[in-house]
Amino acid sequence: MKYSKVCEVYEKLESTSKGLEKTKIIADFLEKIEKEPEIIYLLQGKVFPDYDKRELGMSQKLVIKAIAKASGENNEKVVKSFRKTGDLGKTAEELIGKKKQSSLSQSSLTTEKVIKNLQKLPELEGKGTVGRKIDLIVELFHSAKDKEAKYIARTVLGDLKVGVGSGILRDAIVQHCFKPKNIKDKKEKIEIVQEAYDKSADWAEIFNKACKGRLKEIHLKPGKAVKVMLFPKAKDIDDAFRIVGKPAAFEYKYDGFRMMISMSGGKISIFTRRLDNVTKQFPDVVGVVKKHVHGKSFMIDCEAVGYDRKTKAYQPFQAISQRIKRKYHIEELVKKLPIELVVFDVVYYNEKSYLSEPFKERRKLIEKIVKQEKYKITLADQIVSDDEKEVEKFMDKALEEGQEGLMAKNLKAPYKPGARIGYGVKLKPESNEFDLVITGAEWGTGKRAGWLTSFDISCRDDGELKEVGKVSTGLKEKESEGLSFKQMTKKLKKIITKEHGRHVSVRPEIVVTVLYQNIQKSPSYSSGYALRFPRIKMLRPDRDKSDIATLSEIKKAM
Ligand code: AMP
Repeated sequence: MKYSKVCEVYEKLESTSKGLEKTKIIADFLEKIEKEPEIIYLLQGKVFPDYDKRELGMSQKLVIKAIAKASGENNEKVVKSFRKTGDLGKTAEELIGKKKQSSLSQSSLTTEKVIKNLQKLPELEGKGTVGRKIDLIVELFHSAKDKEAKYIARTVLGDLKVGVGSGILRDAIVQHCFKPKNIKDKKEKIEIVQEAYDKSADWAEIFNKACKGRLKEIHLKPGKAVKVMLFPKAKDIDDAFRIVGKPAAFEYKYDGFRMMISMSGGKISIFTRRLDNVTKQFPDVVGVVKKHVHGKSFMIDCEAVGYDRKTKAYQPFQAISQRIKRKYHIEELVKKLPIELVVFDVVYYNEKSYLSEPFKERRKLIEKIVKQEKYKITLADQIVSDDEKEVEKFMDKALEEGQEGLMAKNLKAPYKPGARIGYGVKLKPESNEFDLVITGAEWGTGKRAGWLTSFDISCRDDGELKEVGKVSTGLKEKESEGLSFKQMTKKLKKIITKEHGRHVSVRPEIVVTVLYQNIQKSPSYSSGYALRFPRIKMLRPDRDKSDIATLSEIKKAM
């Protein structure tokens, strides 16, 4: 298909902010791409399925260079235009489009070529990588007309600005492939499609199978990332029993990070809850799982918990968080920050899915297949109880041992990937903190010039992100003292999408835990609320924007 056809759809999507209209635009377009389902990735502003977290690795600076090279202008001219437009897409449209006066319909650029060139970007390594990356983009720009250049630049930067989230894609697939007869039918189909997506994390595959009536063929595959089941919060033990039933299983809520670990054909893969493949970062965990978990193939759901090698005391998440993103000197960190793997669930074993088995049976299975050894691999500490007093004692013990609280789990419940339903709930003491995503920032002045020093923090609300304040404390000026402004600036600089004076917008990728004193209504922020005296506690590199607090949780905590 011609890329210009996709650009026409982008234009239509950009012209409306209404979810229903966007759904209809996409549903109509799906008709035309049944034979090329991967065009769905382009609608998402990507070139890989969601389970594949490879990054294109193109910063604003590189895109500026690519626009300059393709348009024959110098970098300064591009930067000047960017200052005016605040959007490199528009700058590409203006400078590259200006060279070619002809209309979109004469363009020869195909979706196949765009996908192919962009998919090559993460593969490039070694000397001359930057130049070769720029050339791949320049090649696309050379065959692009104005609007095409605009959307290529935006796709490369990961900010398409057409407002198509997972919910809209899902509803469009339902509309096009099932043509539901009424609201009830639509709701059922939405659930079926969502469930299939949560197993596969690939909209092209879902669309392809849904059209052919073959969604049932979507199964878990060890080695491929799958969404983990999530847990809402219970107010207290009584509330927990009300949600998960009586008796229920209660487990320690360990303060580490989630790992979905799979084994197939002798190969172990480790994924985080945001579907990042972190196998390379955890050779210690790979070794332990190989030795201590029995089976031809499996997928186990676990928490990685840090402990102090000398004192053997468990450490909070913060202590081991740097292991998630570490690319070099991994062995050093393995020694310095050892991990105990706590297994609490299993979803696949010896070529069979255990998703619909009750939790009680899944627990029995992990008891059978995991050979426990303290400080290497254990099962989550668990009691089965219907007695509030007994649970209270168990909670006290968990907190005394430095864990976060308890999880309460329904013994009969299946495992639903991606769902945040009441098959399990968390019980934590009130903490006045939320996980939020950074959506913007401001360049500092004076002593802090050259650093981004104030950060816009947002929560989620029905698929949208809404600001709940600005935070500028919690980070350090000196790198040796902890998370510093310099480190944060480095992270954010790579994902800037827009600049306006000293303010920048960034792709919502950096999740932080923010402490606050109280919450107030506030017209200054799009959520209508503001966290007062917010302070950044830590980065959450294991989480993404789908894991952050919702506006209703924030209102409830007021
Ligand atoms: P939260 O991070 O507050 O949303 O709480 C849910 C997280 O707690 C899960 O994603 C796990 O990473 C973690 N967790 C710790 N212990 C357990 C457990 N026993 N069962 C399930 N999740 C656990």
